[in-house]
Amino acid sequence: MLAGVIASAELAELAGRHAERELRWRVADLGRLAGLAGGPGNGELAARFRFLPAAAGLARVVVDIEGGLVLTCQRCMGPLDWPVAVSAEFCIVASDDDAAVLPEPMDAVALGPAGLELAELVEDEVLAALPLAPMHAADGGCTAGRTAAEPDGVNRPFVGLAMLLKNDADDAGKGR
Ligand SMILES: [Zn+2]
Repeated sequence: MLAGVIASAELAELAGRHAERELRWRVADLGRLAGLAGGPGNGELAARFRFLPAAAGLARVVVDIEGGLVLTCQRCMGPLDWPVAVSAEFCIVASDDDAAVLPEPMDAVALGPAGLELAELVEDEVLAALPLAPMHAADGGCTAGRTAAEPDGVNRPFVGLAMLLKNDADDAGKGR
């Protein structure tokens, strides 16, 4: 299991003393994000959590997430550096049902079986902030225009590979 699960008993204590925690995760270890941003250039996400008391004896958490992802540009299919800077605040409730009875409107996050799962919370927030179709800015190095002009150009890396494999197979056939 990834670091950063806080048991419900500990939450009240952290909130009571306005505690802060800083945690980092490798993007590769965050399964859902790694699937979207699986490139080798992906590094870490750093998150700072502040725990505070909330109404009705509950705790709330304020989180600031920073880092960078390498997404795939949906125009040229090339790598796209995507800076992450996400902030969010939640009231922590025991279950989704409890969110309905919060005294004030506030985003709620429900505890998992082991407690508050910080990695999951961070992943949820970053996923929600990602664009549906990430693309390079017009002047951001998008190679889509160039690809259209040369259909057999640099953006089809597997064409060459397929030909190499075919040649190898032909050579092997001749050798026998
Ligand atoms: Zn692009």
